[in-house]
Amino acid sequence: MLEILTRGFRDVRQYLQGVRTLNEENLSEALAMIRVSLLEADVEFQVTRSFLEKVKEQALGEIVHVSVKFKERKLKVSPGDHFIKLCHDELVRLMGPEDASLDLRRKPVSAIMMVGLQGSGKTTTAAKLARFLQKKGNRPMLVAADVYRPAAVDQIRKLGADLNVPVYSDGGARPPEICSKAMQIASDANCDVVIFDTAGRLTIDEPLMEEIHQIEELAHPDNVLLVCDAMIGQESVNIAKAFNERIRLTGFILTKLDGDARGGAAISIKEATGVPIKFVGMGEGMDRLEEFRPDGLASRILG
Ligand code: GDP
Repeated sequence: MLEILTRGFRDVRQYLQGVRTLNEENLSEALAMIRVSLLEADVEFQVTRSFLEKVKEQALGEIVHVSVKFKERKLKVSPGDHFIKLCHDELVRLMGPEDASLDLRRKPVSAIMMVGLQGSGKTTTAAKLARFLQKKGNRPMLVAADVYRPAAVDQIRKLGADLNVPVYSDGGARPPEICSKAMQIASDANCDVVIFDTAGRLTIDEPLMEEIHQIEELAHPDNVLLVCDAMIGQESVNIAKAFNERIRLTGFILTKLDGDARGGAAISIKEATGVPIKFVGMGEGMDRLEEFRPDGLASRILG
């Protein structure tokens, strides 16, 4: 995963290896190498620019200090390592602050609404999240609110049965009513959190948005999580922006990060929308959902 960025930063590290003085020339060459790598990784142009500006600004401010201290053997890290550390910190800043929290305070039942386009991994992720909450001691219930695709209802029923998580479905009703009714059903069943698996479509369209608004009005979800496919890179960021303009998102779940060679979505999505990544999907298995740690991802990219 994220091979393009890992390779890019490894090349920069190699280029700066043995450099005893960071100067404007080698700094600008290193930044140019990073620029190519970020764009190749499908990081948004604006985000790339802002990243490079921040790193440059800080590096320039420290060039003399770091190089002199290194020569005087007062600094153990080389100027190259120091530069990579600046990149690390800037990546963490871009993707952070860390915020994997969910609002589960409502009694007796809190609600999480999962939204996203078809194929993003929404249904699988709803089940993974149920598993995650179950492990934390919550008593989740899954709600099949994607009624247009019978296969989705079957899929969530099966996933729920495998996990021993109750699933509420009602073929005859409309999704907003299903979600609203699910709150009472969950409370009666002694569950403390419901996860609505809403319908996904191939594109963001009016009926999709209208339905999400209606669910919000009737069931008042405490959390609205957009499930985005990391593998489609910047397109995922565009989808996130479009949703964010229309509904109150509380977070993202970035799926398929395990298969994402580029990393553009992971790096750009928070900076482009202001909405935090809460979780990342790291595989198809039910246990492959992780709380998002910007610092961990930055370390992975920078080696
Ligand atoms: P939906 O249409 O958005 O509900 O998508 P699904 O939940 O049916 O998922 C579509 C495909 O993506 C399925 O084959 C899932 O197993 C797969 N998938 C979901 N999340 C991940 C992930 O984090 N990593 C990988 N490798 N595959 C995933």
